[in-house]
Amino acid sequence: MAPTACGIKCTARFLECAMNLPALLDQIHTEAQALYGKGRVADYIPALGEVAPRQFGMAVALVNGGMHTVGDAQVPFSLQSITKLFTFVIALKLMGEELWQRVGREPSGAAFNSIVQLETENGIPRNPFINAGALVITDILTSRYAHLDYALLGALRRLADEPNLHWNPRVARSERETAHRNMAMAYFMKSHGNFQNEPELVLDNYCRQCATEMSCAQLAQATLFLANGGRDLALDGQPDELFLSAEQTRRVNALLLTCGAYDAAGDFAYRIGLPVKTGVGGGIVAVVPEVGTVAVWAPELDAKGNSVLGAFALERLVQLTGWGHTTL
Ligand code: GLU
Repeated sequence: MAPTACGIKCTARFLECAMNLPALLDQIHTEAQALYGKGRVADYIPALGEVAPRQFGMAVALVNGGMHTVGDAQVPFSLQSITKLFTFVIALKLMGEELWQRVGREPSGAAFNSIVQLETENGIPRNPFINAGALVITDILTSRYAHLDYALLGALRRLADEPNLHWNPRVARSERETAHRNMAMAYFMKSHGNFQNEPELVLDNYCRQCATEMSCAQLAQATLFLANGGRDLALDGQPDELFLSAEQTRRVNALLLTCGAYDAAGDFAYRIGLPVKTGVGGGIVAVVPEVGTVAVWAPELDAKGNSVLGAFALERLVQLTGWGHTTL
């Protein structure tokens, strides 16, 4: 370990990048602003449509405890589908391999809210990160937790070392009032016996879950276990705690790489090449195994529901650092 210009001790593997990270993030922030106006803020959930479009935040959390941020990295935003990563991890911890009887693990190649595959595939969603698959996961957790919102927030508070996380009731209500398509999927899966609870109850939980808010800095910190072999980084000098086994962590990252960006997963793998999870709030979180995590947020989305500036920023970061070039 050697001290670097930013004051952080880094392993030789990413010493060079870490030395330049603050400057790199400034550069990416400046370049990304040229893309303002190229996407549109999600408005199919009315409350999300009210978010100011020209915002950009980025945070890099390193497994050595370092954190670098730029722009609006401390501003909380609506996690939306990024919560599917955490609910999936909680369900995997609870059920292990049995989980795969309820949901698949193949990319869907279809829109995040598509219903068509459910018909031909007997109500078993392709993967846990599209809406149908996430609804099954929320159904599983609804059977397990009387208050799923507290269970999820509890896990996030622990992982982010942040006691003040919450979900936004206005956003949850706005999504719940317009959740007709998700409700249709839930009923369809129930007709196939792949839903244990009443769809109304699961949708209540799902909409609260999606309305969870975090900043880029908090999100990067909360996902660091995925870059750290499943160990939750202890910030107080105590030994790291195992949150997920190394084997399960490897599998979660594989799924994020293949299924984490809806029907743009192939494009993301080509451009960025890292496990990612995107959300229609404009957030993206990426894992650089053994190095750290990157959270980026910019609300303007492309046609597939992914953040335009966010994808650009991650692409530039891997170009400028070489991250991911040796991890696949
Ligand atoms: N709550 C959103 C929905 O179900 C999440 C979608 C997303 O972020 O991709 O439509």
